[in-house]
Amino acid sequence: MAISLYIHVPFCIRKCRYCDFVSYTYDPEAARRYRVALLREMALYHERLAPQERQLKTIFIGGGTPTCLPEEDLAAILEGCSRYFQWLSGVEVTVEANPGTVDLQKLRTLRSAGVNRLSLGVQSSSAPLLKLLGRLHDFNQAVEAVHLARRAGFDNLNLDLIFAIPGQTLADWQGCLEKILDLQPEHISAYSLQIEENTPLARAVAEDGVIPCDEETELAMYRGVINMLTARGFEHYEISNFARPGYRCQHNLTYWYNRPYLGLGPAAHSCLGDERFYNVSSLEEYESCLLAGELPVAGCEKLSRSTMMAETVFLGLRLIEGLDLEKFAARFGENIEEVFGAQIKRLCSLGLVEIRSGRLRLTSRGLPLANTVFREFVLP
Ligand code: SF4
Repeated sequence: MAISLYIHVPFCIRKCRYCDFVSYTYDPEAARRYRVALLREMALYHERLAPQERQLKTIFIGGGTPTCLPEEDLAAILEGCSRYFQWLSGVEVTVEANPGTVDLQKLRTLRSAGVNRLSLGVQSSSAPLLKLLGRLHDFNQAVEAVHLARRAGFDNLNLDLIFAIPGQTLADWQGCLEKILDLQPEHISAYSLQIEENTPLARAVAEDGVIPCDEETELAMYRGVINMLTARGFEHYEISNFARPGYRCQHNLTYWYNRPYLGLGPAAHSCLGDERFYNVSSLEEYESCLLAGELPVAGCEKLSRSTMMAETVFLGLRLIEGLDLEKFAARFGENIEEVFGAQIKRLCSLGLVEIRSGRLRLTSRGLPLANTVFREFVLP
């Protein structure tokens, strides 16, 4: 079966205040060593995977900030992807980029190396909120990045946004969405801010009196983005994702359909067949494993049938269209009611999920409570 490929680029120019991803301050020498190691990792998988597992439906180069790498490094990574893997026709190739780390030349290099989707981390249009988040860029740079991407030939642009930022009002959020819509992206991701432990933002909340957004405002912002974007022709196809018709993110759909993917780079996760495994997160350890000719895998889990069923359900429920029950039965040889009948009955009676047209889906009441619903499907 063809797979999706994720590549983690673990560098950023500077750490954002809310971020708990694995990323290091960009340094040209460390980036050069990372590139050598990454190409070795690709070569090792080329030797070990069956030919059909080297066929790629999608590629996603994320991070970190991939575009803080010089264009030669990005071109070499993409060249490695085509040397060691086979790109299926129509392959979707996404690169994550941050405003302030792209110029026309770099974007043209990406485009001519086969990248056909750009995901820009805009996050907000408000200067004080971008400052609070510790973002490197301002909104003008985000607008400039969108224009440069269009000039470089990108006709599939995602803009990432964050809402429920401390101090943000509903009116701020609506104003931000208006400005984003003016940029005419094909895709928008809108996630509510999670204040993760041990981040500078969490410390600011604990020690400096920064007040997190309250639940009621967060919910109003979530309902607001759904109403506003669907009224402007976007399909709300996943809890936090919106696309113009024909522009759903194929790579992320791989995860939500619970299909196989390979992750390369420090801390990247993979799921192939009934095995899930993940790489070491330390860049040093990652490089030394690969220098020694070994895969940098830190842990591996054999997935039981019940785990795979549960994951298929709650990942499928992330999609607004829901989980296709016939496909579930065909994949696992059991009807969903035989496995999760009690949970579905309970959640239906609470009005959080429904079965319609052969699909199990979250109701509009269940959408903001998705995590509570998902917990119901984890089998003991
Ligand atoms: S750009 Fe992204 S990965 Fe880098 S520090 Fe900011 S949030 Fe984290």
